[in-house]
Amino acid sequence: MVEVNDMYYAWSPNKEIAESGECGGAVTSILKFMLEEGIVDAVLAVKKGADIYDAVPTLITDPEKIIESAGSLHCGTLNMAKTVQKYLKGAEDMKIAVTTKPCDAMTMVELMKRKKINRDNIVMVGVNCGGTLPPVQAREMIEKYYELDPDMVVKEEITKGKLMIETADSEKEISIDELEEEGYGRRTNCRRCENNIPQMSDLALGNWGVIGPLAGKATFIEVFSDKGAEILDKAISAGALSVKDPVPKGIEIRATIDKAMVKLANKWQSKDFLEDGGEIMTTLNKYRNELDKCIKCYGCRESCPICYCAECTLETNGPEWLPKGELPPSPMFHMERLIHMVDSCTNCEQCEEVCPAEIPLARIWHEINSQLQETYGYNRGMDEQKPPLSYFTIPGK
Ligand code: FAD
Repeated sequence: MVEVNDMYYAWSPNKEIAESGECGGAVTSILKFMLEEGIVDAVLAVKKGADIYDAVPTLITDPEKIIESAGSLHCGTLNMAKTVQKYLKGAEDMKIAVTTKPCDAMTMVELMKRKKINRDNIVMVGVNCGGTLPPVQAREMIEKYYELDPDMVVKEEITKGKLMIETADSEKEISIDELEEEGYGRRTNCRRCENNIPQMSDLALGNWGVIGPLAGKATFIEVFSDKGAEILDKAISAGALSVKDPVPKGIEIRATIDKAMVKLANKWQSKDFLEDGGEIMTTLNKYRNELDKCIKCYGCRESCPICYCAECTLETNGPEWLPKGELPPSPMFHMERLIHMVDSCTNCEQCEEVCPAEIPLARIWHEINSQLQETYGYNRGMDEQKPPLSYFTIPGK
């Protein structure tokens, strides 16, 4: 009987899935099993679009099509919570299994607290994440540092502190630290991220800690909820998933890598944030010149998975809410957005990715969010029961 906190090495008994999967296809097999058994109506996963730099969220209802989503897309910088909340009606009338990196899962939790996503209808199949790469910059980096044609890349993988890039006839590795010192490597928000194992998901799967003959061929699973335990139990009993107890050394290695990643994130935070841990107003003052670059395109609000108001108060007051020609633009738009959601910001960086003025939005929000976490002990995305610090509703919506 599977229970919460249990750990396994797992892989797919189906040869085709095992070969297509990133590390033995356990995730793909669990998703397929849930669809076949009617545990969920649909799966929201990510599949390769035009190339490995193009990660596309995809809703799958046919179990035979799940295999199309196998594999990890490290240039997949998307946030799955936005798709669930905005385009799938918050899973109001459909049971959905979603693959969740930690920032996806944390954002889902924040939206569940605000009743924008129906927790009862969601299964979060978590994938560990040590960070994602910005797709356009990744192409540039591959040309410049690996001297390879980015269009010829068939696989990219972060392993033992190195980014490995593979083409049909070559394989090259460069240390992530080296690349990041040069301004390449993982996205800046990912470098600062301390959440590598999505413990707020029902299950968390990743390659860390799989050692010995199963390395690369199996995935490490940790169970985080009764729902996750029940699903895993059923999948194993039905023969849809092969499992083995993890070796103690593997469990230890996984915890050690996680700790090292948290330490590295803290190093990046002290580099990016105010060194003496300032106050919110000090932070805003520091970034005033950056915020003044805002052209009020509202792209950050549109892409933010936490921005949940059915109607934005800034729009209802008229899109031209600032007098024409006023310079520099007032930071009030950002102030208002901060008040609405900064307590719940999960540092997913969707805002910064779309900002045409290249304002370091994720960094500002993350810095302020960290100060709130410290002051109020509110650890966003973790505890489903704890209410958010701020909540806005429009009556009748
Ligand atoms: P598969 O059966 O191949 O299934 C993988 C699933 O991941 C698919 O369902 C797919 O939809 C989903 N997926 C792919 N790309 C994304 C994405 N960008 N966002 C959301 N879902 C996605 N494990 C570690 O232990 N340490 C790490 O540092 C680490 N970093 C990762 C970084 C990224 C961006 C991703 C996506 C995964 C990472 N993993 C990491 C997890 C690991 O790569 C495998 O996904 C995991 O071991 C499961 O292997 P599998 O063969 O069972 O998965």
